[in-house]
Amino acid sequence: MDATSPRLALLSVVVPCYNEAAVLNELHARLQAALGSIPDLDYELIYVDDGSNDATFDRLRGFAHRSSKVRVVRLARNFGHQVALTVGLEECVGDAAVLIDADLQDPPTVIAEMVVRWRAGVDVAYGVRLARAGENRSKLWLAGLYYWLLSLASDRPVPKDAGEFRLMDRKVIDALLAMPERDRLTRALVSWIGFRQEAVCYNREPRFAGKTKFPPTKMLRLAMDGLLSFSLLPLRIATWLGFLAAFLAFGGICYAATVRLLTDTWVTGWAALFTAILFVGGIQLIVVGILGEYVGRIYGEVKRRPLYFVAQRLGFPERANPAPSAGARGGAQTAPPQAGAKVPPP
Ligand code: UDP
Ligand code: MG
Repeated sequence: MDATSPRLALLSVVVPCYNEAAVLNELHARLQAALGSIPDLDYELIYVDDGSNDATFDRLRGFAHRSSKVRVVRLARNFGHQVALTVGLEECVGDAAVLIDADLQDPPTVIAEMVVRWRAGVDVAYGVRLARAGENRSKLWLAGLYYWLLSLASDRPVPKDAGEFRLMDRKVIDALLAMPERDRLTRALVSWIGFRQEAVCYNREPRFAGKTKFPPTKMLRLAMDGLLSFSLLPLRIATWLGFLAAFLAFGGICYAATVRLLTDTWVTGWAALFTAILFVGGIQLIVVGILGEYVGRIYGEVKRRPLYFVAQRLGFPERANPAPSAGARGGAQTAPPQAGAKVPPP
């Protein structure tokens, strides 16, 4: 933290945007008002256009033309929320950064409270949702399942009802970017990093406009990602299932031997055998599936593909002439954008 130096502390605000044209004007106005009212603070707004196919980029270009505090990164396609956040963190130069959704569900006014905590020495001030207005039952149920799976999975507790809305000190940002994995669930990675972390409670608003980009299928995928990339617990469950099957099989053998040797009644039906085969077969399939999930993840990691490609940058002072077309980060001009590979300042 740099609050005492003559230079004003710089706060970077990272906003991932995927087809958010309907909310951007309101968001931009509210962000500027909220950030402008925090004393002794300079800020930059980093909008990451995650391959939108509506007017999102046009809106962002307008903001960048009107204000020198606005930076825009347009990704080559839709890479997903978590990658968009990583891009913003790699591009930001602030003493601290705030991650905030574009849809105004996270109120920009809460940032002031996060800054107060940061100035008091807290390294991560994460938003915790007290009430979640405007979200339907199935979404809340899935969110509950999601946090339950995540808490099962992590060695470190991931705060319940905390999304990605948070302020992080520079040392946390650098630590986060030094973590090379591709399955990036920011809230879980940050919780693993440590340092001083505190909750800031707020009421989550309904989406200002537009539709959620996380339908139930995507939520389940995110839950699986959280579970599998933070824990070997599913593998342990596989082992337990194996033991359970072996134990039941042993019981069955004892029973069969006893009945055969000590009585005259020999079971002629196939039902028991059939059930046992199905049971063991089912367990084997589950275990193979779990192994497959892990192998798939390892495959993804060892390919070492760049995490994303940038199509266009606007408003970055160090790049007066932004790279014109796609592939800038994967091309010869800069190092491949592996997760955590921070672009060196000029
Ligand atoms: N988002 C993104 N890429 C995606 C999906 C979402 O950058 O592929 C952004 C989206 O524009 C928003 C944030 O991530 O700023 C959270 O998305 P959303 O509000 O749809 O999620 P929800 O709040 O419904 O969980
Ligand atoms: Mg939202």
